[in-house]
Amino acid sequence: MRTLYSKFLLYTILIMIGSTTIGFLIVNTYYHQQMKEENDLKNVAIAEEITEFIESGGDFELTEYLESIGDVGYQLYVVNENREERFYGGEFAYKNIREESVDVVLNGEIYHGMRDQHQETFFTGFFSDELANTVGVPFTYDGERYALFIRPDIRLLFQEVHTLTAGMLIIIAIVSLIAMLAVAKMMISPIKEMTKATKRISEENFHEKLEINRKDEIGRLARSFNRMTDQLMQNDQSRKEFISNVSHDFQSPLQNIMGYAELLGNGPLEEEDRRSYATIIKNETNRLSSLTKQLLLLTTLDQLNTLQKQEFSLTQQLKDCVTTFRWQLENKGISMSLHLDHILYRGDESWLMNVWDNLLTNAIKYNKPNGEIVIEMKENVKEVMVKISDTGVGMREEEIEKIFRRFYRADESRSMEVGGTGLGLAIAYEVVEKHGGEIVVESQQEKGSTFSVHLPKM
Ligand code: ADP
Repeated sequence: MRTLYSKFLLYTILIMIGSTTIGFLIVNTYYHQQMKEENDLKNVAIAEEITEFIESGGDFELTEYLESIGDVGYQLYVVNENREERFYGGEFAYKNIREESVDVVLNGEIYHGMRDQHQETFFTGFFSDELANTVGVPFTYDGERYALFIRPDIRLLFQEVHTLTAGMLIIIAIVSLIAMLAVAKMMISPIKEMTKATKRISEENFHEKLEINRKDEIGRLARSFNRMTDQLMQNDQSRKEFISNVSHDFQSPLQNIMGYAELLGNGPLEEEDRRSYATIIKNETNRLSSLTKQLLLLTTLDQLNTLQKQEFSLTQQLKDCVTTFRWQLENKGISMSLHLDHILYRGDESWLMNVWDNLLTNAIKYNKPNGEIVIEMKENVKEVMVKISDTGVGMREEEIEKIFRRFYRADESRSMEVGGTGLGLAIAYEVVEKHGGEIVVESQQEKGSTFSVHLPKM
């Protein structure tokens, strides 16, 4: 059974055989429990009516009368005490009545062959054309005792019905088999298409879409498949973009280092130039180092499934973070004010430290000399909100939308100048998102920016 189609065919045939068997058994049970007895009584009643008429002593010829009963659709067997026997109506296929059964009837009792004869499972016994499958009643005619055995001539009554029923069953079986196969084909063809599409994707061809417009589960699967293809295409694009960005960001500091190292090595230099070249090399090395660290952080974040959450003082963490920037703040003449409620938060302490570190680095990097930074922290029943505002260069509306993308820098030359990598906000965004929160940005060019971090309490 290698294909779904052959499985479907097999199951269909098995179901048809199974349902026919079950139907057959139910009908049989009904026949044995209910119909057999009723049928026997019905035929006894008919036989008694016939014998009553015979015994009423009317003006008729017994043989003629019994022949006429045979003509209307009965098989009859009449026997007297001398074992003289006559048959009327349709012929019995098997003339197999037992001597004792005849004796019983001649002795005045009734023979219930229809009820007692066929004890096996199949209701087809009902149609069995044998003398034993009759009812027998006694009667007296011209002072002589007779036994009359009778059954309806099924051949006569049911021949057409039989043919029609059998024909109908065969047609139902053939039509349902063909219909099932057509349905199977219809169900299976989209799966074949999906298999082809999966192969295309494995060959990195994301452009051909599945054209399956159905409303059922297969249609839903096809739509999910198309969404997955889109997502894979986007991932593939961002992976390629990421690699080209990484190469570019490594390439330029490396080239600078190489160039200035060559200058340093090539002959005598003024002391001032020498110092300046060495400083450039040191700065470029620092940039490469922080780029590597941030790339590592991003990769770790991408692979991180669960955060190490624990309760800690967010207030203390922000204060500690600010302390590490004291020297830079003084250097740039930036004043800092803190308005922090005392808040305990359950989250990943070390990843959250990265968020504050990146936001504060930016608030200082993109601030103006002698500018200001305000940090506020509040909480309500649902969340904790940390707001970091600066009086820096600000951003344009269209830049705000992009700043959380990896490697995005609104002003490339300024970012490079201040040692930016374009990765800090991408890291902050992912950490906050992993905590179920969000970062909202408001900014005005040349006035400043406010980054509000919303962290839900869980
Ligand atoms: P970078 O290392 O370049 O600072 P980030 O991911 O931290 O990278 O920020 C992305 C860009 O967003 C920055 O290049 C900068 O243009 C802009 N940006 C970030 N924070 C601020 C801010 N406080 N004021 C103005 N611009 C900002």
